[in-house]
Amino acid sequence: MIKAVRGTRDLLPPETALWNFVESAVRDVFRAYNFQEIRTPIFEETALFSRSVGEETDIVGKEMYTWQDRGRAESDRGQSLTLRPENTAGVVRAYIEHKLWDRGLNKLYYIGPQFRRERPQKGRYRQFYQIGAEVLGPPSAGSESPARDAELLEMLATLLDRLGITGWNLELNSVGCPNDRAKFNEALRKALEPVVGKMCADCQRRALSNPLRVFDCKVPEDQPIIENLPRISRFLDEPCRAHFEAVQAILRTVGVPFTLNDRLVRGLDYYTRTAFEFTHGALGAQNAILGGGRYDGLSEALGGPAAPGIGFAIGEDRLVLSLQESASAEAVVRRPDVYVAPLGARMNPDAARLARELRRHDLVVELGDETFRLKKSFEAATKAGAKYILIVGENEVKADAFALKNLETGEQISIVRSELAGKIQAGR
Ligand code: AMP
Repeated sequence: MIKAVRGTRDLLPPETALWNFVESAVRDVFRAYNFQEIRTPIFEETALFSRSVGEETDIVGKEMYTWQDRGRAESDRGQSLTLRPENTAGVVRAYIEHKLWDRGLNKLYYIGPQFRRERPQKGRYRQFYQIGAEVLGPPSAGSESPARDAELLEMLATLLDRLGITGWNLELNSVGCPNDRAKFNEALRKALEPVVGKMCADCQRRALSNPLRVFDCKVPEDQPIIENLPRISRFLDEPCRAHFEAVQAILRTVGVPFTLNDRLVRGLDYYTRTAFEFTHGALGAQNAILGGGRYDGLSEALGGPAAPGIGFAIGEDRLVLSLQESASAEAVVRRPDVYVAPLGARMNPDAARLARELRRHDLVVELGDETFRLKKSFEAATKAGAKYILIVGENEVKADAFALKNLETGEQISIVRSELAGKIQAGR
């Protein structure tokens, strides 16, 4: 028997109703902040990710699904392609490729699957879904302003509140600019020198190539050493410090609570200044619902014009998991308003016509067929969770009045066609 591949999974009803509930809230909230949707391809040239996410990251180093495509001729080696492990790189590529700044498109969001070859566990999959948004644009358009950072964070707080997710925690840090990081890296290297021999193999490698990444380490034995390392907060230059202060001041004024965490460096290389994560207690080890930050140099790193920006990616799988703590899928699923039951094969056409009329009134209709006699129809209607059952027999069609039974109260009435939809709507 063929099963879904390790790390991938089927999302089944009624859970899919929760996913739709999340996505429609996302679209509503993002719309209010004037974000518009972008859809980029699921695979891209490998170089896009190695250049933007960074060679030294776990993602590029060991988690990407990469393959050599075929060229036109049998002997041609094609391009190296990769299933996208995240979506910011694709969005920035599209921004550059279509000169989106010329069209004033500077606030974009996406919803879609991402792929990483991670060790699967609860809340961590190899195909997972991200909801993300990016604000980017020429510096002359204000894209560097701390107002953008704060607005994005406030939008996220609004979204989580709207979804009814309580108990989230916003962790905030500034990772400074390349200048600050050069000094910080220097200090980190010095501090690591005498202790790195006692650390895990990954940390030993990171200490040489990109010491900042040491803060990504999850190995318990390394944590006391990491606790004592210097922190980026001491190395921020004046503009970076002022930017960070300004973001915090807006958040305080608009009433979005946060905690400072100067260990937060995030897994991707392209972040500058503001870095953040929202965590949720109920999620256990994989407690980050979303992460993001500023990436002022990314567009240039990909060959584009200066386009400072800030964005985030929500792990939709985890968002749904934390939602299941408070809302059950059953509560957001829409069950049929009415089950239309034809009595016998000859009644199929009339039943179909009635169902068509009712659906035009925005009712959810389950249409039965000639297979079931009356008793079976009642059973089917109950199983489908329908509120009403509508009997379509020969006498009813002749009289143009139908038997409508409320399956919750047991009340049954005879009602003329023209009043049917109104009656069912009223009873919803
Ligand atoms: P990142 O792109 O690594 O900054 O991740 C952003 C968010 O995506 C995280 O906070 C998680 O919620 C989610 N995420 C990342 N990797 C996975 C994964 N393998 N499975 C499920 N969710 C993930």
